[in-house]
Amino acid sequence: MPAMGHARHAHDPPNYHCRRTPARPRPCESKSMSTHLRVNPITCEAHGLCAELLPEMITLDDWGYPIIDGNPIAPELLEHARRAAAACPTLALLIERR
Ligand code: SF4
Repeated sequence: MPAMGHARHAHDPPNYHCRRTPARPRPCESKSMSTHLRVNPITCEAHGLCAELLPEMITLDDWGYPIIDGNPIAPELLEHARRAAAACPTLALLIERR
């Protein structure tokens, strides 16, 4: 075993620890991320169920298609939003983090 403080030899393992960059928060860990609702307009069939389950955030237009208020989902509504997304018959209601 080489003595401490020796010059690096070609057979020594590389010292990866010294090359590491400082840890940065991943985008998903950033505090600026928020959770939003989105409707896939291709798969939505205007059942209107989502507006019944989450009237705080979703209203319907004249044809029964949802209008999302666009605000981040408040923490107290997140579970309701998840239920509404799960209940959508065509899985058109999506929860996404931005
Ligand atoms: S429940 Fe689903 S299919 Fe029905 S209006 Fe809402 S998003 Fe569209």
